[in-house]
Amino acid sequence: MTAVQSSAEDRGGEIARRPRSRVLAGRPSLLVLYVPVVAAVHLGLIAAGLGGTALRPDDVLTFGALLGCGAVCIEATRRLGMPAGVARDLLSSWWLPVALLLPPVYALLMPIPLQALLQFRVRRTLVYRRVIVASALGIAGACASWVFHLVVPEPLVGAPAWIVDTYPGIPAAVGCAALFTVVNTALVAVAAHAANPEGRWRDVLWTRESLLLDVVELCLGILVAITSGLNPGLLLLALPPVMLLQRSLMHQQLQAAARTDAKTGLLNAAAWQREADTELSRSLRTHEPLALLLIDIDHFKRVNDTHGHLVGDQVLIAVAGTLCHQLRDYDVIGRFGGEEFVVLLPGADTVEACRVAERLRGRVRRLSVPADDGTVGVTVSVGVSLFRMHGDDLIELLAAADLALYRAKESGRDRVCLPALDGARGADA
Ligand code: GH3
Ligand code: MG
Ligand code: MG
Repeated sequence: MTAVQSSAEDRGGEIARRPRSRVLAGRPSLLVLYVPVVAAVHLGLIAAGLGGTALRPDDVLTFGALLGCGAVCIEATRRLGMPAGVARDLLSSWWLPVALLLPPVYALLMPIPLQALLQFRVRRTLVYRRVIVASALGIAGACASWVFHLVVPEPLVGAPAWIVDTYPGIPAAVGCAALFTVVNTALVAVAAHAANPEGRWRDVLWTRESLLLDVVELCLGILVAITSGLNPGLLLLALPPVMLLQRSLMHQQLQAAARTDAKTGLLNAAAWQREADTELSRSLRTHEPLALLLIDIDHFKRVNDTHGHLVGDQVLIAVAGTLCHQLRDYDVIGRFGGEEFVVLLPGADTVEACRVAERLRGRVRRLSVPADDGTVGVTVSVGVSLFRMHGDDLIELLAAADLALYRAKESGRDRVCLPALDGARGADA
């Protein structure tokens, strides 16, 4: 499965929280047009393929064996569980061999039972998302299959020469595997972008991590194709390692999800606290300064009351994104509570911390989040505390920043405050 599918899954959570009328009308109108068109193309190709393809026992046997392997991997995932928003798997290891070894119609058919299995056995999601993912995989698989069969007309016949002679079979397999990924990614990226037009294309296309997973998936797919091209019985040897890889990938994603706040993608409070403790220990060792910012959205309840919780959520996501983009890689940002964020700035002294806090405040002020009746703007208040100056451990630092935040709220909001040195509510920054 490609990066875009996981991206589509992520956005699906967001879509799922919107009322149905907004999913079908308004913003995702392009989606309403796009999904049926892609699904219709998929079904049309299946109809044409079924009409024009002779059913051969060898092909059906290979298809059944690869489909069975995919189903076993899905069952193995099911027992582990799949957190919302995480949808990377290695199922293309089974889709790709179908595309390379069998006539294109099999590649068109393969995603349908497997997506149905994912939907009913692993995680229920909006049906249109399953439809677009299945259609994209089917069409991408058929493209790869069609091109590969131009180079190797009978990939399963005899002792498959394309494997033994290597050229041009193996380079063609690699090229078609890449084609499969590109077509699939492009088809789902359009859907993901239509579902969330404000999202950046870069995020719905490839990130470095997902590109690496795509490469792993393609390598596995070609190895499985070679194995089952030689003898479908050898799939019994390929299944356990692919299943193990799939399980460890899922495990990794579950661990990441346990650290992350699902709505904003920032660290959750517990994970932030763990990372902050590590930074504090480092600062103790190195005697470097360290600052903490507690950031609270002003009058957020009014945003919810005026525009509804869904727009409130969009504001939270936008503020989190803005804060994140303004910080350095080694700053530690988390969502601390409802509309409260916390940032640890390693190496920052008072002047630097207040400068960063002012920049964050200014950037959030310039945000405008679309709502049904125009746009929503918000401001934030920021409490700043400094390690050693206002506290000697995380609890004391947080308490000091909380006092400073209280002071910022009391003195009119949309400002940055420091606590007094004696811990009493202190002067503005
Ligand atoms: P102040 O300026 O004093 O901080 O006022 P406020 O309205 O921002 O603060 P208050 O604590 O009164 O209200 C916070 C609101 O944030 C109440 C709660 O419903 C809302 N909230 C908390 N978590 C979420 C969330 O995940 N999504 C949405 N939409 N609202 C949330
Ligand atoms: Mg607030
Ligand atoms: Mg609050």
